[in-house]
Amino acid sequence: MAQCKDIAEEANQYIDGDLPLRRRISLYFHLVVCKCCRVYLDQMRDTIRAVTVFKPKEAINQDIKSLAQRLREESQK
Ligand SMILES: [Zn+2]
Repeated sequence: MAQCKDIAEEANQYIDGDLPLRRRISLYFHLVVCKCCRVYLDQMRDTIRAVTVFKPKEAINQDIKSLAQRLREESQK
């Protein structure tokens, strides 16, 4: 049976579905009995969701900003 440290180490792969089935099941059964790890995994999921949702937007804003900057520099030449 998996332990808390296993969840901590493999939470990412678990969420991504990158673990072999046997390993997933073992972590799953730990999650059933361990509330700490369930909370931990939930927070992890939220973080990942936040990052996936917000990061592209930030990247786009960053691109627009640097593009505007470059245009300004070009026009000053
Ligand atoms: Zn645990």
